[in-house]
Formats: sequence, structure tokens, C-alpha cells
Amino acid sequence: MITAAKELIKRVVKEVVIDEKFMEMALKEAKRAASDGEVPIGAVLIKGGDVIARDHNRCMQLNDPTAHAEILVIREGGRVLGNYRLPETTLYVTVEPCPMCVGAITQGRIGRLVYGAPEDKMGAVSSKFRLLNDPGLHHRLEVNGGILKRECSEIIQGFFRGRR
Ligand code: ZN
Repeated sequence: MITAAKELIKRVVKEVVIDEKFMEMALKEAKRAASDGEVPIGAVLIKGGDVIARDHNRCMQLNDPTAHAEILVIREGGRVLGNYRLPETTLYVTVEPCPMCVGAITQGRIGRLVYGAPEDKMGAVSSKFRLLNDPGLHHRLEVNGGILKRECSEIIQGFFRGRR
């Protein structure tokens, strides 16, 4: 029993270390967005421990209201993997996804979602809307929120403070 508990703790710790590593990468993308004057949100798509795509918000640069970090890495992921469905991938994003991105995550059959900061105004996982909990939604995915929450919150709050 003690051995089993130790193994479980080891596995959980390992997962947290991996999640923080890729969230750090997503944070670097968020910082790139900030230096371009874009809303600082970054995303990374992983499959089997490999980075498939990494990007950040580019709405202004591309004149595209849909160019959220999540959408860009999902599109790139489809191209790289040669598939319009992306099971067994994990999407890391610094801020809780909006309804559009949650839609894309379910359309893409993303296996796992890890996000940093909750988002009160448009967050569609646990804050403003809870789209993934809708019983009509057939795609089920594992969700883990709050990874590097403080760092992820700081960068986005700093950005909006600076604009006021
Ligand atoms: Zn979005």
C-alpha cells in the first residue's frame, strides 16, 4: 500500500514537472506577444513529449480576430501531423481558453488541456462559461488548470494595466 502510494506521488510529481516545463515554454511565447503589442497569451502543442507547435496571439499582426494562440497551434498541429483530429496531444495555454478556442479544442479532439491563469470575462472552461461540462458535448478531455498560475496572471494583468 505504501509502495503504491509512493508510486502515485512520484507519477503526479513527474507530471507536474512536465506540465511546468511546457507552461514555461508557453510563457515565453506570451512574452513574445507582449513585445509585439499583442495580448500576451502563449500556447504549445505536445504529442508524446515532442513539441508539435508553439505560438502566441497574433490578432493584430494578422488582422485576424481568430488568431488566438490556441487556434494557431491547433492549425499548425493539423498540418504537422497530417490530420484534422489531434488525439493524444496536450495543449498548454497560459490563460483559460475563450469559447471559440474551447470549440476548436473539441473539434480537434485534443486529448488534454493544461492552462495557467483563469479568465473571468471570457474563460470557457471553469470561469465565465463551463462549455466542457455540457452533457451534449461528446468529446471528453482531461483538464488541468492553474499551472504556473501566478506567472501567467502577472503577464496578462501587467499588459492590461499598461494600457490603461
Ligand atoms: Zn481564444
